[in-house]
Amino acid sequence: MSHSISRQVEIDCLECGMNFTADVYVIVDMQEQPDLVDKMRGGTLHQVRCPECGHLLLLEIPLLLFIRNNVPHLVVVCAAGTSSEWNKQQGMELVRCLKDVAGSGWKNDWSEGGLGAMHDQAMLAAWLSGASKEAMQQLPRQQALEAARLKKEDPERYYMDLFYALVNAQDIPWKQDIMESNPDLLCDEAQDLLHARMGNAAYLKNSNALAVFSQNLFLLSVRRGDLGPAMRKKLEEG
Ligand SMILES: [Zn+2]
Repeated sequence: MSHSISRQVEIDCLECGMNFTADVYVIVDMQEQPDLVDKMRGGTLHQVRCPECGHLLLLEIPLLLFIRNNVPHLVVVCAAGTSSEWNKQQGMELVRCLKDVAGSGWKNDWSEGGLGAMHDQAMLAAWLSGASKEAMQQLPRQQALEAARLKKEDPERYYMDLFYALVNAQDIPWKQDIMESNPDLLCDEAQDLLHARMGNAAYLKNSNALAVFSQNLFLLSVRRGDLGPAMRKKLEEG
């Protein structure tokens, strides 16, 4: 029996304003689902396409791998752009989920090797493609260089990618972790670009995109401490 589990996530597309749900795998039983392993190898397991405008999103959501013929048997693949502490908590919650699904079939030695961790889905894809240890060690540095290049050459895309992660985080602690882990979201340049995009959504009378921009930009303004004393007092009073 396969122990893979998917979860329904709510997604907002900021290109067209569409709000939709998608089933996304959060636990993958590596031996039982080679089709999902193929998707992980190609880096497409957590890719979601907007049904309205076709915009392609890569969702960064923690993923638990269940690998019967490996020690550790349980490995959490972290969501890029979030803290290791938060991913560890999410990983433990997924282990509890797996225990529930396995029921009486759960074996204690599955968790005896502890919970392994993998840097992110790109690292997972490299590992499954048989990349050398050296190539995998170089990967985080290459990703950092690529991010720095994008920030310089196409800052709007760079900040929008970060903002998409914030928008599509499924609860407030998750959003808080993203804001803490990505100080670039709080800089003045990001604010200017994101407000310009929000202005564009308003011009196009794209009411859902406008609402999503304004809710998430509000969270960023709270984090930046941009609120005037009156607004802060109102928030504190609930
Ligand atoms: Zn769309």
